[in-house]
Amino acid sequence: MEDSPLGPLVVKPIQPYQARKVYSCPGCSGDIVSGTGHLVVIPEHAPDLRRHWHRGCWFKEMRRAGYSADSGQPMNGRAAR
Ligand SMILES: [Zn+2]
Repeated sequence: MEDSPLGPLVVKPIQPYQARKVYSCPGCSGDIVSGTGHLVVIPEHAPDLRRHWHRGCWFKEMRRAGYSADSGQPMNGRAAR
């Protein structure tokens, strides 16, 4: 059962001390400056496609898509795993 376009996702928080580079957030096309806590979203079957997101952008995006922000899975009337 893989409804998410990328299949199951692993969403991991990155602590400020772990953010040593500048990342580009796909949600707002803005930079995530180093030293900022954020999220990394890793497709379970395609770890190379991981993206770094501002926390707020990810939640907004998932809410708009009707997905669970924790797993990236659709929430349409059924519980996220
Ligand atoms: Zn962003």
